Amino acid sequence: MKYDTIIIGGGISGLVAGITLCSAGQKVGIVSSGQSALHFNSGSMELLGHDSRGNDIDDPCEAIKNLPPSHPYSKIGAATMEAMLADVKDFFARAGIRLCGDEHHNHYRITPMGAFRPAWLSLDGYAMFDRPAHLADGTILIVNIKGFIDFYPEFIRHALESTNYCEIREISHPKIERLRKSASEMRPTNISAVITGDVVKDIAADINMLIEQTGADAVIMPAVVGSLNGHPDAELRQRVNKPLHYAPTMPISVGGMHMQITLRQYFRSIGGDYFLGDTVSSAVIDDNGHVCSIFTDNLGDTPLEADDFILASGSFISHGLLATYEKICEPIFGLDIEAPENRADWCSADIYAAHQYMSAGVATDNMFHPSIQGRPVRNLFAAGSVASGCDPLQEQSGAGVAILTAMFIAREILKSYRHDI
Ligand SMILES: Cc1cc2nc3c(=O)[nH]c(=O)nc-3n(C[C@H](O)[C@H](O)[C@H](O)COP(=O)(O)OP(=O)(O)OC[C@H]3O[C@@H](n4cnc5c(N)ncnc54)[C@H](O)[C@@H]3O)c2cc1C
Repeated sequence: MKYDTIIIGGGISGLVAGITLCSAGQKVGIVSSGQSALHFNSGSMELLGHDSRGNDIDDPCEAIKNLPPSHPYSKIGAATMEAMLADVKDFFARAGIRLCGDEHHNHYRITPMGAFRPAWLSLDGYAMFDRPAHLADGTILIVNIKGFIDFYPEFIRHALESTNYCEIREISHPKIERLRKSASEMRPTNISAVITGDVVKDIAADINMLIEQTGADAVIMPAVVGSLNGHPDAELRQRVNKPLHYAPTMPISVGGMHMQITLRQYFRSIGGDYFLGDTVSSAVIDDNGHVCSIFTDNLGDTPLEADDFILASGSFISHGLLATYEKICEPIFGLDIEAPENRADWCSADIYAAHQYMSAGVATDNMFHPSIQGRPVRNLFAAGSVASGCDPLQEQSGAGVAILTAMFIAREILKSYRHDI
């Protein structure tokens, strides 16, 4: 099977690259083994949240200009970054995902543990704070689902108590009670499958009653509402009489999963081939250092061929990078890696400090071409968290790096793409 571009990995970077290329008329295949980091996503995307001293950043676009040359954003360049950033919300809106936020002004998101983190874009309906602890004036009602243990209302109350008086209440529904018979069924995605149709109306009525009882001015509830059929999350917000904000839960993330599935469906709807649940096992590289084809577990001896390849296989959590006792490696191509030689340097003894393994990854040149034993592979690009050059956790830049490297690489591929259609 022959493609213009084949992408290894269907997380956010693989899908953003795939959609960009497909929209421009390319024949694109994405091969993706399984879960991506989106399944753990908070519902918010980070662009650049912390400077090198750990201070919160207000204007990420401005702060990007001070990053070292090795950072992926510096490789893209400040002017190109700014132009691409202006397109991101429309890009996701075309796919059916509404994001709110501003690249010139971070807002804050709340974590399930009640900490505040700077964020760039948040899914529509998620709690967005203009400063830590300030969501709304007045009393806040925190509503949990009875028996749901992946959301901690007390932590949220503690986080907000400097600004708001908070009341905590629980709601349920006969259909949710059925899930509660097995504790393992009370997972965010299972609950979201139940909160559709008339259940939305019933839950809205319960929340409205609690608003009456507590005199609340705003409501926070766990992000367990959302379905691919219709928009129960938006409907519930409409039916509740005060502003309703969703707060992230422990994984699996309902918002993140919907982003993943929505992007995948959109990619397929514009003609992309998505090989779901297949794993790229090996690649053939010719004497000129060009990738000719890749092989997957499911397709066996049938090669997948393309003019260009994008490695978007993620970091350790997605097995895009592997760590053995001796070294960190990239398992498909054996690409050169940027990581400390000495294993003892991978981590710091202080759990809250920066750990060097977090910025380890595939070494790339300024066009995101990786290399094998120092020799660049010209028709291969590394996008997203598989590549080195930043510590997404310390600097709060995960989704930003994934989205913007993918967009940049796709646009570079398109510059040399000639279609005869
Ligand atoms: C737990 C966790 C939570 C995070 N939360 C946030 C957040 O809330 N906000 C934020 O901005 N950032 C967050 N991040 C940062 C995150 O890394 C990036 O946001 C981004 O999602 C990374 O996307 P990616 O496409 O590069 O990689 P991934 O999302 O990791 O996707 C890689 C994909 O490649 C597939 N793959 C791997 N190897 C192969 C192979 N051989 N063959 C085929 N497929 C393969 C994997 O199955 C996976 O689907 C989080 C990261 C983690 C680990």
